[in-house]
Amino acid sequence: LHEIKQQLQQLLEGEITNDPAALDTYSRDASIFQVRPELIISPKHTADIKKLVQFVAKHKHNKHKGLSITPRAAGTDMSGGPLSDSIILDMKPHFHEILKVGADFMTVQPGIYYRDFEKTSLKHHLILPSYTASKELCTIGGMIANNAAGELSLSYGQTERYVKKLKVVLADGNEYSLHPLNKRQLADKLKLKTYEGEIYRRVFHLVEKHQQVIQAAKPQVSKNSAGYLLWNVWDGKTFDLAQLMVGSQGTLGVITEATMELVRPKKHSRLLVIFLSDLKDLATIVNKVLVHKPESFECYDDQTLGLAFKFLPEIAKLLKIKNLFTLARQFLPELRLIVTSGMPKLVLLAQFTGDSARDVTKQAETAQRDIASFAQQTIITDKHDSKKYWVVRRESFNLLRHHVHHKHTAPFIDDIIVNPVYLPHFLPRLDAIMDDYHLTYTIAGHIGNGNFHIFPLMDMTDPATRKIIPELSERVFRLVLEYKGSIAGEHNDGIVRTPYLKMQYGPKICALFEEVKDIFDPYRIFNPGKKVEITKRYALDHFIDT
Ligand SMILES: Cc1cc2nc3c(=O)[nH]c(=O)nc-3n(C[C@H](O)[C@H](O)[C@H](O)COP(=O)(O)OP(=O)(O)OC[C@H]3O[C@@H](n4cnc5c(N)ncnc54)[C@H](O)[C@@H]3O)c2cc1C
Repeated sequence: LHEIKQQLQQLLEGEITNDPAALDTYSRDASIFQVRPELIISPKHTADIKKLVQFVAKHKHNKHKGLSITPRAAGTDMSGGPLSDSIILDMKPHFHEILKVGADFMTVQPGIYYRDFEKTSLKHHLILPSYTASKELCTIGGMIANNAAGELSLSYGQTERYVKKLKVVLADGNEYSLHPLNKRQLADKLKLKTYEGEIYRRVFHLVEKHQQVIQAAKPQVSKNSAGYLLWNVWDGKTFDLAQLMVGSQGTLGVITEATMELVRPKKHSRLLVIFLSDLKDLATIVNKVLVHKPESFECYDDQTLGLAFKFLPEIAKLLKIKNLFTLARQFLPELRLIVTSGMPKLVLLAQFTGDSARDVTKQAETAQRDIASFAQQTIITDKHDSKKYWVVRRESFNLLRHHVHHKHTAPFIDDIIVNPVYLPHFLPRLDAIMDDYHLTYTIAGHIGNGNFHIFPLMDMTDPATRKIIPELSERVFRLVLEYKGSIAGEHNDGIVRTPYLKMQYGPKICALFEEVKDIFDPYRIFNPGKKVEITKRYALDHFIDT
């Protein structure tokens, strides 16, 4: 290692460290895993990345077979995606520039935080609508590599829809521009007698030959980030290799630049808040609200609400409220409800938006009338008063993560998704499985998509608790797949779900995933053990032990 580090210091302009404290930090993300890297490299520019890829390729053939490169951005991944026992490529320090702002797009470097990206996009009255609940913490590169999604994805879809063009360093150590090609442009690429031509030919052959199996394997849900997104590459008219990079978790190459399409947010919004004392009518309510086409439809449970009460000072800070009285007033509806009819079991947030205030209010009121008789209580709030609900919804996981010290918020069944029409059958069965384990857990999520984030609180040092994780995962995933859902709506596969991809897609599609990996990364330079080639044993052996 010492020798490798020295050689790399000669070769690259970016910083290189194996300082133990830094290695500790980079051995964790927001998942239940820890993997200690050997080196952290912050590339100064694309030339550094190209040289590093060539260096690793060369040394893998010699005596350093285990060398690899794992891109990392903000490290908020919940799946173990940015963890590696070799080189971490930290994209944050030098890849955070905004390169161009157009009428409906921005071109940026991937290490830019979403919060900084948004500051600029909002100046142009634009947003990237696939932003996540972690929007204050994560980067654009991480969002692309995970095919991230969020509260607006019900109507705007996930990140895959907004990637116009990517620049990517591939395994030959060169940078390529990937974007949609028409048939003529594709034909030109297929003729190239180069590395690039070879990649195009092999991927084209793969998706053409297996078109039917690929389309049939696409999960029947509105969001999915499990596996490689093969179904997005070729529709018979347009061929887009950038779509293979989306959601690939840095396993096929390093994204060095991204052009993202943006949208103009609607002018007016009204939030319909629905409190439920039990879940018996949940599925009916969800499907009745969906008829009115909310822009977003989210939920959080009683445990999450309890957390908000428990950590009121943090909530106040996030709401930028200094006065306790003002804060207490914000939570009056909940307090009144708790006194009169008890703690709500679930809170649903249905946001209606549009360019006419009158129409939006009418939409929210009609939805409210339709479901009022099934709910404990409903209220409609304006943009200002709705802020509190969004903060509670977005911040629950983070509050738990930072404030519960003896137990760990354990994401492993954190991203299941089924079509909401199945909720009446699916939810009672999910409940029954969860009941078998007597765990304390929070549920929040994108109820309009049928996408639930379940976070059990677990003592990861306890062997009995650790044993629950694979068993419960398997039971929950089986149930999800019975309803043609996906095990990962937006949080991707990483270490936590890659071992279950065969369960979701079967051997044929997983063999195609392996072929994709072989085409782009035959020598396993990029982020090994994610998407393909990882065992449950590896996952179990790398659970955090604190
Ligand atoms: C509190 C909290 C809330 C969250 N809420 C959501 C949510 O609502 N929706 C959602 O989708 N996710 C959510 N997440 C998960 C996570 O924040 C997102 O997936 C986010 O997009 C990851 O971005 P990051 O910058 O942290 O990436 P990282 O965690 O650093 O990396 C993520 C993956 O991208 C790869 N990668 C990073 N940069 C590059 C690059 N330049 N080239 C190639 N590959 C790269 C990494 O190798 C890794 O596999 C949440 C996480 C937390 C902690």
